[in-house]
Amino acid sequence: MSTLLAQNMSATHGQLTAVHNVSLSLEPGEMLFLVGANGAGKTTLLRTIAGDHVQGSGEIMLSGVDISDRPAHLRARAGLALVPEGRRLFPDMTVRENLMLGASTSREGPWSVAAIFEAFPNLAKLDRAMAGKLSGGEQQAVAIGRALMGDPVAIMLDEVSLGLSPAAVDLAYGALRKTRDMGLALLVVEQDLNRAIREADQIIVMCEGRVALRVRPQDTTVAALAAASFGQVAA
Ligand code: ATP
Repeated sequence: MSTLLAQNMSATHGQLTAVHNVSLSLEPGEMLFLVGANGAGKTTLLRTIAGDHVQGSGEIMLSGVDISDRPAHLRARAGLALVPEGRRLFPDMTVRENLMLGASTSREGPWSVAAIFEAFPNLAKLDRAMAGKLSGGEQQAVAIGRALMGDPVAIMLDEVSLGLSPAAVDLAYGALRKTRDMGLALLVVEQDLNRAIREADQIIVMCEGRVALRVRPQDTTVAALAAASFGQVAA
């Protein structure tokens, strides 16, 4: 059974159809990368699946349960987490307080503040630091940690590496690989096509709101992904 199955997802912004009939499926322990040019509809798709974008439709099954009609907070309680673009931490709250906000789903599971500090050892010494004072990489670690605190079965991450140093990106992906090995399903929006080919189990390229290419990393190249992002077929 798929952990996350999203079928015929569509979404509008007023008159503009930003996502047209996109479907995807994730098994436990799988990492699906969603790539595409700016404005391709990646963020809108993630927000629609999460229930944060109200002008959206489609059928969403989480571990075999239909959550399509549930509002965002009940999708989170069912085990679906979103790490949004820009992290959206509370800058005047501490690292621990930000992490604790993620526990509001009241789900049972392996994640606790101590487990997050084990996954991201650089956060442990920042326990009482204000989130707004952290580096971009540290903030991304808190955002991922906050999502994990809800003990999700599937986690969606928007622009994981945006604005981070290469070392911080490696750290974030190291932690994500561990969660994948624990059986989580990960849907990752990423600009770095090399990273997508290195880490992904599946890759979907979006172009103008539609699926332009659906491929396994071993069957593609950066050039082919880039071409599909712009609606072309690679030479
Ligand atoms: P980016 O990498 O730039 O975030 P994206 O692939 O995530 O791009 P979206 O942000 O989902 O794409 O945008 C898809 C389309 O919807 C674009 O044409 C964008 O201009 C439009 N759009 C996004 N947000 C809004 C909004 N709040 N109001 C109106 N149009 C929007």
